This record gives sequence, structure tokens and C-alpha cells, in this order.
Amino acid sequence: MMIDTHSHIYLDAFDQDREQIIERASRSGVFQIILPNIDANSINALLETESKFPNMCKALMGLHPTSVKADYKQQLDIIEKQLNSRFFSGIGEIGLDLYWDKTYLKEQKDALAIQFKWACKLNLPVVIHTRDAFSEIFDVFDKVYDPRLKGVFHSFSGDISDAKKILELPNFYLGINGVVTFKKSSLPEILSETGIERVVLETDAPYLAPAPHRGKRNEPAYLTLTRDKLAEISGLSVNEVNHITTQNAQKLFNL
Ligand SMILES: [Zn+2]
Repeated sequence: MMIDTHSHIYLDAFDQDREQIIERASRSGVFQIILPNIDANSINALLETESKFPNMCKALMGLHPTSVKADYKQQLDIIEKQLNSRFFSGIGEIGLDLYWDKTYLKEQKDALAIQFKWACKLNLPVVIHTRDAFSEIFDVFDKVYDPRLKGVFHSFSGDISDAKKILELPNFYLGINGVVTFKKSSLPEILSETGIERVVLETDAPYLAPAPHRGKRNEPAYLTLTRDKLAEISGLSVNEVNHITTQNAQKLFNL
């Protein structure tokens, strides 16, 4: 049994067949799906999907770095109100993204530091998105690191030294998805060096579908393909990979 720790099945890419998606996920052994928020505009769809499938889906709340613009303080006010209004399983997704746009790096760093503080105050894990920004994210960590912080570097895309730095932080995990099945991915080599003891599984659906579905819409049922690849890399059985990654996810998100 597996947990998909990162999936956006509340997006309209799934409006036509969300129930079948959930059914297929269950049949393939996925018993829990974590839904990270994006920004103020995605909250309604996120909460609606969670309340329709309350056993399967757990919502997170946070402001995604690509949505950090000039109005980020107003966005953060909305996110904070949500966090104070009910329980969420974590703060996410948050982070730094310099791939799409570097204009708001300063604001992205500020939004990240603010959300780290909320995570400590509320004792919640953080789900971190990092794209082309590992050195900048470690800058933020150096400035605001608090030993109470725990979380996952979702869709981990760094090199071996980034992976080692993350694993030096107690209570941090690597989120691994379909990218590990891509032909030119460096993840198999990195993971054979680090081991998978601190890995959690994710799809990042509808994005990053694993081979042989690469380029198509991703869905939680495809988590098996990523899991199978991790078994191949680590030399462990699929049951052992299920066990390790599920325990990590349950511990991190208090499931
Ligand atoms: Zn995401």
C-alpha cells in the first residue's frame, strides 16, 4: 500500500473523471493522496475535492513560489486565514522557482521564510518546491532554520551534494516521482548512493507522468511505476519500498 504525497487531482484536468481516478488509485494500492495548494485561486477546488473523498485525500495549505508576485502579501493573508480556520496536514506547496521567472526572487524568499515560521508555530510539515534554486533555498535555510522544521523536498531535482545536504537536516525527506523513470534522469545514480530510507513517493499529477506515459496526463495510479523503479534501483522488494515510503509519509504528515 502506498501514499501519493503530492498530487493536484483537484485541478480541472480531472473534472471529467475524478471518481474513476480515485478508484484506479485504490485498485493500484494507493490509499492516501496529499493535495498541495497553489494559491488563493485554487483553494475552492482543493477543499471541494478533499471533502468529496475525505478518507483518501488530505489537503495542504500554502502559496506556491510561481504565484508569488507583487500582491504576495494579500495572497499570504488569504492562506493564513485558511490555516487558522481548520486543520491542514501541512504547509505547501512553498519554495523557490527561478526556472520560470526570477523577477520576484526577493518576494519568493520572503514568502518562504514567512511560511516556514507558520509551519514551526503550527507544528506542521512543509512541502518544498525547488526549481533551479538549490543554492538560494539553502540561503533561506541558513537564515531562518529552526530545528522544529520538518518536510519534504518535493520532486527532488538537485545533484548528489544537494541530496546529502537535505539528508543532513533531520526530519527532511526526498520526494521522488516519475522523473526517476526518465531515460536521462540522474536520480537513479543519486538514489543508489543515498539509499531510499528517507524517500517518499509522489506523482505530482497531472504533471511528470512516469515512463511509458511520459508527456501524458499523470494520475495517482501511476505511482506503481515510480515505486517499481525504486525497487529496481535499491534492490529491495516492492513490498519493502511500499513499507519504507509509506512509513515515512505517515510519520511526516502525521497520518
Ligand atoms: Zn505540485
